[in-house]
Amino acid sequence: MANKITIKPVDSEQMMRRHNHSDCLKHVLQAAESICLARNIRLTQARKRVLELICASHQAIGAYQLLDQLKQQDNKAKPATIYRALDFLMDAGLVHKVESLNAYIGCLSADQNHHSAILICDHCHNAYEMDARHCYDALHDNSKSFGFKPSQVIIEMHGICKECSSRMGIINQSVDEDCF
Ligand SMILES: [Zn+2]
Ligand SMILES: [Zn+2]
Ligand SMILES: [Zn+2]
Repeated sequence: MANKITIKPVDSEQMMRRHNHSDCLKHVLQAAESICLARNIRLTQARKRVLELICASHQAIGAYQLLDQLKQQDNKAKPATIYRALDFLMDAGLVHKVESLNAYIGCLSADQNHHSAILICDHCHNAYEMDARHCYDALHDNSKSFGFKPSQVIIEMHGICKECSSRMGIINQSVDEDCF
């Protein structure tokens, strides 16, 4: 049976509701510092700025949107600045690419080994990670019966998040009330 969704240390239920986003940002930056220290790699100002821009919200953000935002701080920023920083941040596990949106999100579990599915809200465009190790295990096992050797598995789900659902519920309710 599917396990209950768990993403630590940030509780996924809490993430789906209103939350103090500065805690998410603080957590990512702390993880970035400890990962860079452990791997003896440098979190340069440019890399840190790109990470901060990606983690400014839970919305997936595209490379060109990042470039526009970075240019507001540094008008010399080039696409290569962004792509180099993205490569570094993805390699360090601090950022994930949302393939179906060709965009990026910050990882809140970068300091832990995890296999997640990405849940993407088509309404607010927030994207969250959900622990999906059991799905990855099942896919790897099933692919063996095809004699297939997977090199990469990507699981992304599109839909409507809890917050948008409840907001839409309220809107629908008020429409109903207006009608009657
Ligand atoms: Zn947050
Ligand atoms: Zn992650
Ligand atoms: Zn939403």
